[in-house]
Formats: sequence, structure tokens, C-alpha cells
Amino acid sequence: MSDDWRWAAIQLLESWKRGGVSTWQRIAPAPPPVRPAAEVSVAPTRPVAPAAPRAAAPRPLFSPSVGDEPLPRRATAAPIAVPRAPFVPLDLSPEDRVKRLAELKTCVAGCTKCGELARTRTQTVFGVGNPNAKILFIGEAPGADEDAQGEPFVGKAGQKLNDIIAACKLKREDIYICNILRCRPPGNRLPAPEEAANCREWLDGQIAVVNPDYIVCWGSCAAQNLLSSELTIGKLRGRFYEYGRAKVLCTYHPSYLLRNPPAKKDVWEDMKFLFRDMGIDLTAK
Ligand code: SF4
Repeated sequence: MSDDWRWAAIQLLESWKRGGVSTWQRIAPAPPPVRPAAEVSVAPTRPVAPAAPRAAAPRPLFSPSVGDEPLPRRATAAPIAVPRAPFVPLDLSPEDRVKRLAELKTCVAGCTKCGELARTRTQTVFGVGNPNAKILFIGEAPGADEDAQGEPFVGKAGQKLNDIIAACKLKREDIYICNILRCRPPGNRLPAPEEAANCREWLDGQIAVVNPDYIVCWGSCAAQNLLSSELTIGKLRGRFYEYGRAKVLCTYHPSYLLRNPPAKKDVWEDMKFLFRDMGIDLTAK
């Protein structure tokens, strides 16, 4: 860890402490990999509990169309054990969420933990959207467009994501969007495991501050890194996982849909599954 980064992290934590935050703490050095329950000898599978109500002010989302009848849940395979989030979510006011994210963003802008990425990036790509969102999206890493504009999910994949958001009767500004990495890997290569590990603290910081009810992992990179799993995205789909207090859903990355349009129906099924859990029927007129 460089002295600059250490200094920035200490400054951030001290400012949070001065602000009265005392619940930000690591409770595990690293989560165990996700494996099918049958292979897990100790950690039992935890049923996903209904999302707990939050004390903070109500957050704007959208006007849902709630169906008259509860829709049947999609059949799922054997449950999967999930890792514990290495942090305690923060229950902040909407104003404090904005402030904390701004502080984190400043720290990230000076981050040089991944030497190659820090040397080659145009800028860091922190995250955008509603700091009080109920849903947080996680993608892979900035590409060329994101690196140039400083915003995640722009360009063609971003437009595809916007189409999905619109189909769900939401606006991009209703959601908080970030990536596993905050710097572009050269040539758009996959994030290296050590880079994902380096950036995990920033990701967990954003999740802790936004404290969403739901997280959507778009693509294998996001899903496998967040859940510490080696399973394919096809096997991770179709059920919820638990991370902190959020329910996590995994689905295909929008860029995969550009290459494989038939997979759009799978993503639409995943979105209906997610919103059904929120009591919202996306097929209702
Ligand atoms: S990818 Fe994340 S950890 Fe690595 S240099 Fe960029 S901000 Fe820092």
C-alpha cells in the first residue's frame, strides 16, 4: 500500500469517525468461495430473509404496477451457500450517503494500488446514480468509453443496459451503478484477481454507503468476484444470494446480449424474477 493511499484512507476513516460513524468494520479478511451446498462441510446455507425495512427517509424509485395475484417463483436448483459480506452496511441519511460517496470518490481518484491500471487509465470510473437507490448494479470494469467519460456503462453495452432499465419501468438515475474495477484494464482485458481484490474495498464501501435492498451482478466477472464463486453465470442465475443485507441476482452482461441476442429473453426472465420479489409484476399494463 502506498503512503499516499494509506494517508487518503486514514483521512477518510477519520472523517467518518468525526461524523459519528462507528459501524464500519471488517469482520472477515476474505469470504470463502461459493460452492454447491453439498460440497460445503461447515457453513450452512442461509435462507434469504425478506429485505429489512430501513430507517432512513423513503427513496424515490418508480411507480410500480403490482399484480393482483402473486406470481409463482421460478423453480431453483439446490441452494448455494454464500459468503458473508466483509462489512456492516451503514444506515445513513440521504445527505450523508451523498457526502460519504463523494469522500470515497476522492480517495479512489488518487488510488494507485494497481500499478499498471493507474499508469494507463485516463481517469478513475467511480460510480453513478442514486445514492439512495434500492437497486445497485455491478459490472465488470471500465472500457474505452467509460475510461474516456468517467462513467460506468456508457457506449453500446451501456445503451443496452439503459434499454433493460427502461423495460423495467425505471430510469438510470433510479439505480446506483458501479463496477468491480474503477480503472480500465489495458485492451479491455479481464480484471486480474489481484486487481479485483485491490478494488474490493472501494466496491464494499459503495455498497455499505448505498446499502441497497438488491444487487444485480451483470456478467461472470461481477458475479464471481462478488460471490467468490467459480460457477458460470449460467449456473449462478435463477436464485438470490445474500451479501450484507442485500439480495443478489446474477445475470448476463449487456455486452453478451449484443453478441448473443437470444439471451435477452433470459435477462428479461431474471428481471421479472427480481421485480416479482419486490412485489412488482413487470408484465402488468
Ligand atoms: S482498479 Fe481500483 S484498486 Fe486498482 S488502481 Fe484503480 S481504483 Fe485503485
